[in-house]
Amino acid sequence: MNSFQRSGIGMTSQRTRERLVSRLKQEGISKQAVLDIMSQTPRHLFVDEAISHRAYEDTALPIGMGQTISQPFIVARMSELLLDSGKLDTVLEIGTGSGYQTAVLSQMFKEVYSVERIGPLQRAAQKRLRNLRLFNIFYRHGDGYLGWQEKAPFDAIIVTAAPENIPEQLIEQLAEGGRMVIPVGAQNDVQDLVLLQKIDGELEQLSLEKVKFVPLVTGTID
Ligand code: SAH
Repeated sequence: MNSFQRSGIGMTSQRTRERLVSRLKQEGISKQAVLDIMSQTPRHLFVDEAISHRAYEDTALPIGMGQTISQPFIVARMSELLLDSGKLDTVLEIGTGSGYQTAVLSQMFKEVYSVERIGPLQRAAQKRLRNLRLFNIFYRHGDGYLGWQEKAPFDAIIVTAAPENIPEQLIEQLAEGGRMVIPVGAQNDVQDLVLLQKIDGELEQLSLEKVKFVPLVTGTID
């Protein structure tokens, strides 16, 4: 029994979740830690009840305000890339959204700092994650282009909305030896998933597969 089950989050979805996780494995997710975390994280609690029966399909789903909960494969892929960051103490997440990726990160890192620009999404995510008794998450309603200066540097940074270029502030807030994963490219189009590493003060940038994220937008909505 995992801690979510102890906290009363049902066993009923366990089987469908296992099926999703075997599919992720077949599709190339190889880090067992990530697969284990995803097999224990109740994604159906991060979407509206009306579509929760689709929560274990490997697909993005609407979460309101024109935003989506990321596809499980992408969550697994980005998480896996971050696991190789030197230290796993702190991670900065831009785009809390539903909070699902946040829940996964909170089981990988000591502390998660998560920024969301849309107030209602930020508050709903915070409530969900508290109900799941995930207490190592710090929340900010703000513009992720600016990162979270007061808490920098971060061992890892994950951005789950796409800017046209990597924001300079985020690069500055990445710790030496740290890793950033971020979709980069023209808005409303496909983007490149970019892995950025800071090694001896130098930046090493690698473009991986094509991905499709909602755009990273400046400013906040109350
Ligand atoms: N990882 C989330 C993805 C949500 S979609 C999930 O799986 O649920 C991307 C999120 O990024 C949206 O909630 C959107 O409001 C947010 N976002 C877009 N631009 C942002 C910005 N500048 N700062 C913070 N959040 C931003």
